Amino acid sequence: MTIKNVVLREINLPLRQPFVTSHGIIPHRRSLIIELIDNDGHIGWGECAALETPGYLPETFDSSLLVLQKWLVPVIRDRHFSHPGEVSSFFDKSIRGWNFAKAALEMAVWDLFAKKQGSSLADLLGGVQKKVAAGIVLGLQDNLRLLIEKAEEAVAAGYQRLKIKIAPGNDFAILHALRKEFGEKIDLAADANSAYTLADTKNLQRFDEFKLSMIEQPLAWDDHADHAVLQKNIQTPICLDESILSLADCQTMHAMQSGRIVNLKPGRVGGLAPSLKIHEFCQKRRIPLWCGGMLESGIGRAFNIALASLSGFTLPGDLSPSTRYFKRDIVVPEWKMDAQGFVVVPFKKPGIGVDVDRDYLKRVTVDEWNF
Ligand code: MG
Repeated sequence: MTIKNVVLREINLPLRQPFVTSHGIIPHRRSLIIELIDNDGHIGWGECAALETPGYLPETFDSSLLVLQKWLVPVIRDRHFSHPGEVSSFFDKSIRGWNFAKAALEMAVWDLFAKKQGSSLADLLGGVQKKVAAGIVLGLQDNLRLLIEKAEEAVAAGYQRLKIKIAPGNDFAILHALRKEFGEKIDLAADANSAYTLADTKNLQRFDEFKLSMIEQPLAWDDHADHAVLQKNIQTPICLDESILSLADCQTMHAMQSGRIVNLKPGRVGGLAPSLKIHEFCQKRRIPLWCGGMLESGIGRAFNIALASLSGFTLPGDLSPSTRYFKRDIVVPEWKMDAQGFVVVPFKKPGIGVDVDRDYLKRVTVDEWNF
């Protein structure tokens, strides 16, 4: 396939309710949607998962856009690829970093190729799970009662895991209240987004009593050494998120024992080909894997769901249905979750398994660039 045209669209997708994390409040999702068209007129969609602010990783919406416009789109246009697995290594030869921007284009090539082959993306990736388990992420709330209410709603809706955003001062009492409310049956996890340091070890050791399935990224976003020390001193398995940008980072984690679980986000590691390598590495070493989310629209979500259908994804992913975050999604049908907390993987439909609602996409588009 030869990519002839690339369209980048900046969208503002209204959120159902603002998302609060330790880095701030997100009222709507400003996202970048990629449309690729090849020499035969086949279309592939992608989404850049970078956030608006550099509070998660250094790469942001605006920096991804710049890199796409200046470096990535010019080198992919008119280039022939025989398989989407070639795109990531092609980018990496001459451009370092900028994983979210690379992944946005790479994943769009996977969608295009799958459609060209008449295959679902999940099939093309080697997915085997017909449905994938969904967990929910609950942001910091104004008060504990409100958090408990939201958790109750989530459990009633069928979510298979509750993941709570925590930060120093907003941690022990919250986890204690949730365990008291729901008992040991519920899969409870905490995500700290690097809000702690090794000086908090004693505090983090107190969480062991809650038997969390994991604590995600408690320490610095680019660290392995301190995480390795912490993991030796706590029973709760550490799951790394921000610290895993590549297969090499997974190898480091494994060698240093800086974590026992990997949250894999295809955008963060540069796309699906790098994700497949990480999947293989983790599966061989029995490192549990799950697919994280970046508040993606239904397009980005489709890639996460296809990836999560691989056999090594053994833990529930942050794979909420569209209505969890958005007033209306830009895909048809919208992503749905059943009462048992599963999202069905669309194995029958070629490509990402959903259609883009072009009318609504147009309405939420605030800027557009054609190449
Ligand atoms: Mg996280």
